[in-house]
Amino acid sequence: MYRIGQGWDRHPLEAGRQCILGGIEFQDCPVGPVGHSDGDAVCHAVTDALLGAANLGDIGRHFPDTDSRWAGANSLELLREAVRLVQAAGFRVVNVDCTVITEQPVIAPQSAAMQDALAGALQIAPDRVSVKATRGEGLGPEGRGECVTVQAVALLMASQGD
Ligand code: MG
Repeated sequence: MYRIGQGWDRHPLEAGRQCILGGIEFQDCPVGPVGHSDGDAVCHAVTDALLGAANLGDIGRHFPDTDSRWAGANSLELLREAVRLVQAAGFRVVNVDCTVITEQPVIAPQSAAMQDALAGALQIAPDRVSVKATRGEGLGPEGRGECVTVQAVALLMASQGD
């Protein structure tokens, strides 16, 4: 039995913020995502895709931004915890695909590193993790450089039975 889930996340971009996406720091990026945690919208979207596929609710239910435990949290840790929840529910991750929509940072030079970092958290091979990027072409908040938006899809397979 396969289960599919989708995730979506958006964070404002602000000058001078540390920029971490997919667990990788973009050291030369002049802007970074604002958030209660580290603002890693890639990890958040993938986390929600996993939770959705297993019908376990959403990231806000498991990691509420009212909980000081998650203030400044490394979002790869949130993703690892989501993988534990999914495994406990009887699933394993088959593959993940995500699209990052942003003007900054430029994703391509780091996409392989992001795939490796995400694959480590997901406990799957890097060739099962896709990180794609596109720009807003001047349109909407992404095109104006105001935010980073991430869409993700995750496929799970039941560890046994149907
Ligand atoms: Mg988020």
